Amino acid sequence: MDLFEYEAKDLFAKHGVPVIGGAVVTTAEAAGAAADEIGGKVVIKAQVKAGGRGKAGGVKVAEGNAEATEKAQGILGLDIKGHIVKKVLVTPASAIAEEYYVSFLLDRANRTFLAMASVEGGMDIEEVAVTKPEALARVAVDAIEGCTPAKAAEIAAAANFAADIRPAIEKILCQLWDVLVKEDATLVEVNPLVKTVEGDIVALDGKVSLDDNAAFRHSDHEAFVDNAAIDPIELRAKEHDLNYVKLEGEVGIIGNGAGLVMSTLDVVAYAGEEFGGVKPANFLDIGGGASAQVMANGLDIVLNDPSVKSVFVNVFGGITACDAVANGIIQAVAMLEANGEKVTKPLVCRIDGNNAEEGRRILDESGLDVVVRVQTMDDAARRVAELAK
Ligand code: GDP
Ligand code: MN
Repeated sequence: MDLFEYEAKDLFAKHGVPVIGGAVVTTAEAAGAAADEIGGKVVIKAQVKAGGRGKAGGVKVAEGNAEATEKAQGILGLDIKGHIVKKVLVTPASAIAEEYYVSFLLDRANRTFLAMASVEGGMDIEEVAVTKPEALARVAVDAIEGCTPAKAAEIAAAANFAADIRPAIEKILCQLWDVLVKEDATLVEVNPLVKTVEGDIVALDGKVSLDDNAAFRHSDHEAFVDNAAIDPIELRAKEHDLNYVKLEGEVGIIGNGAGLVMSTLDVVAYAGEEFGGVKPANFLDIGGGASAQVMANGLDIVLNDPSVKSVFVNVFGGITACDAVANGIIQAVAMLEANGEKVTKPLVCRIDGNNAEEGRRILDESGLDVVVRVQTMDDAARRVAELAK
């Protein structure tokens, strides 16, 4: 889960990293009032989970109620890389002398953690990384050893931080490492970390990605979950404990087992090329021992997606044999119809595995005209893509 800047900075503050507070507001008037309360120059910053806000016009300096209201008006509702700005952070403006870049992240390819640091931070860091790679220091950090004071000194030296600020930088590096480890993050990034004209070192921006697999260890992180940003269908699926991911296409997918569902996405995308680029509309794994109720919940979620034109039910019978799956599909359709949701979209079913013959016979004799039974996975993919078109 990615955090908003203000949430990331709250975590920074918890671990001692110097940040500047502010007010998070959702209306231009409230931004104006916050600017009044803070007094002097303020910065109004779009709170969206996307980088490059500065370049997109999402970071503006203002002074006083009227100007802050006007600037916030311009930022709220802005579309930054597909993210609509719904809230802004109003924070006292810092007088910046220099902008730096520091981060820690999980380096999967090298099976370690990586520290990156540069004295040329700010909005052009991506360009610096490409055109002047030597200006961006990269230092591996061992997971067990962590960012010791010695490691922090190595990072600061590699990035060529000036001697007078090294103690402050090294301390902040150790505190940021603490954020990474103690909050179970996979990324902690500060750009810019600034030196103010007064000589203070402050994190002016913050980016944190939390490892969702560790969520059980952090009940306080629940407050970060932003239901408004989650796809409404994904939210409903979550309520039913279904493993669902919304995708862009037209073919609803239901399968049992993550591997089978992933290969189903592949064959549908491949077969869909013949029909003008028909694609899967979702990933949905209903799991190994799926009951009729779980099948009904899955069908309900997938059929209620307005972009779905046809559905591919791809089940490999194992512990739950194919006859039980076939009966599950029939019962699921009946349950939905009993709920007033008549099933009209074609359900292309491919079932194989334990007791497949019996399962197929049950489907064939069900009398349900929405069920299209197809023998092989490839044929089913072709048929479902054709029907979606
Ligand atoms: P990003 O573009 O999404 O990374 O947003 P940032 O928070 O990094 O802001 C972009 C740029 O705005 C920074 O690199 C700074 O140059 C500038 N900026 C941000 N906060 C302040 C501030 O408090 N004072 C001043 N003078 N500039 C700021
Ligand atoms: Mn930034």
